[in-house]
Amino acid sequence: MRFGKSAMAAALAIGLTFAAYSANASSGAHWGYEGEHGPENWGHMSGEYKACSEGKTQSPIDLSGALEEDLADITFDYKPSKLNVINNGHTVQVNYDNGSSISVNGSQYNLVQFHFHTPSEHTVGGKSFGNEMHLVHKNDKGELAVVGVLIENGKENAAYKAIWSNLPKKANEKKSAAVDINASELLPQDRDYYTYSGSLTTPPCSENVRWIVLKTPIEMSEGQIKDIQKIMHKNNRPVQKMHDRVLKISK
Ligand SMILES: [Zn+2]
Repeated sequence: MRFGKSAMAAALAIGLTFAAYSANASSGAHWGYEGEHGPENWGHMSGEYKACSEGKTQSPIDLSGALEEDLADITFDYKPSKLNVINNGHTVQVNYDNGSSISVNGSQYNLVQFHFHTPSEHTVGGKSFGNEMHLVHKNDKGELAVVGVLIENGKENAAYKAIWSNLPKKANEKKSAAVDINASELLPQDRDYYTYSGSLTTPPCSENVRWIVLKTPIEMSEGQIKDIQKIMHKNNRPVQKMHDRVLKISK
């Protein structure tokens, strides 16, 4: 079979597209939680990930030795959202409708999405929890505030039922359902918190993230924790050095 000129050009174009795609995959998208792609190597995988190994304010951390202070209350102004869940290959993420926010010390941050890590990323006095939820908020300047919720083994948690019935099992799979969820129902009643200055816990490990980890864990049944573990396996970054940061806790 002979190729005409245009078929050759098309074949070449496809070849180039493939080459560009694999180059992208090896420099950017290929991090994970184990072996050569694991957290110890993130900082060396790409220039963009340098903060992962060289940053001095990285997350997560062990939440111990916190300084008690009269911290300002966080105002949670969460509205219902349609349920849109995506498995991005690293975590199960719920993308949240516009219009929900938190306010801390006069700054407002809009809720963008929340996602899960098993086991927890933050530890308390070296103790880890079955799961941890991160609610990611962004202000108008693009600065991030992440609210962490520690989740321990216990009673089945009905507030998570709608999400758990729509967990996308495969990477890049999306699920939507005609139900409203409200993130405020996913939090503990007590909103006392730890706070410190940290980073994203995944590449590129960007810093200047305001971390707010709620002091009171919530419960989920072992079955519920296993449901998400089966999908994501282990997706927690180990705790990072404090360096000269201060961890505060509500009095
Ligand atoms: Zn996270």
